[in-house]
Amino acid sequence: MARRPRATEPNALRIRLIELLDNFERHLNESDLRDQVRELVPANHLLRDLGVSLLPQGDRLSARERILAYFRRFPGQVIDGDELMVVAGISEYARRLRELRVEEGWPILSGITANELRAAENEDGLDGEDAMPAMRPDQYLLTEDRQDRDAAHRWNIANQIRRSSAGARDKILRYFRANVGKPITSEELRYVANISDWPRRARELRTEDGWPIITRFTGDPTLPAGVYVLERDEQAPAHDRHIPEIVRREVMQRDNWSCRWRGCGWPHGFPAQDHRFLEAHHRVHHADRGSNTPENLVTLCNLHHDETHRTGVLDLAD
Ligand SMILES: [Zn+2]
Ligand SMILES: [Zn+2]
Repeated sequence: MARRPRATEPNALRIRLIELLDNFERHLNESDLRDQVRELVPANHLLRDLGVSLLPQGDRLSARERILAYFRRFPGQVIDGDELMVVAGISEYARRLRELRVEEGWPILSGITANELRAAENEDGLDGEDAMPAMRPDQYLLTEDRQDRDAAHRWNIANQIRRSSAGARDKILRYFRANVGKPITSEELRYVANISDWPRRARELRTEDGWPIITRFTGDPTLPAGVYVLERDEQAPAHDRHIPEIVRREVMQRDNWSCRWRGCGWPHGFPAQDHRFLEAHHRVHHADRGSNTPENLVTLCNLHHDETHRTGVLDLAD
């Protein structure tokens, strides 16, 4: 294990490997077990060197850097753990993944977490082609080619909250409220909650408790898969809660993912830094027996949603 993989010219490595394997035929027939195993050691080293040599400058990089370089070549694509073994030149790559995630803030999603997210999306009726892909537990995905410099700090907070005695839903809420306006990955929420049911707890915070938690399906289609943002530290009026996810999505789609307020239309035509979010508002309030149907719901940005509740006037574009 002490031997550090060396990369040279891939084809030279390939030729040496073939020579070794050719010679191995003789050992298969003539040598005892000990000699056979010893003969295979250099072949194993060569095979590892060959994998490492496939990346440019692969031999100059650490295993962690090679894993990262490989992920960054294929952002948004599902990667097998065995591929990481090849490019890293080591089989114990899991710890490197954790370091990349926790210390360096790369949004690497594991198959385990992705499947928990996917199960919740399916429950919400989000099983189309834009839903989370099915992944095996030993597969990984760099959801976005962007390093989050704030992540290491957040993981410290996550660790403190995880160790507290609160319930999973409260832990998730505390974590969101400690990070208002910041993109939070699924891996962070899973770690904080420490239960596989974390996506449902996060959803309940939004749909039952009215916290403005947005994802790519609930308010900001430009967010990467599995990323959540608590847009502000404030709960929605009680009457706008309890909208089934599939209905909320239908309303947002019908309204072209934009505010229907006259002259608004956010986010279309607004600068990307304008961090509002979209909400569904009941035309006839829930308390007045308004129904949770698309006909009774309309998409508003949070500014105009507030204005509607403040003034009692709903001034929609035609
Ligand atoms: Zn409302
Ligand atoms: Zn608006």
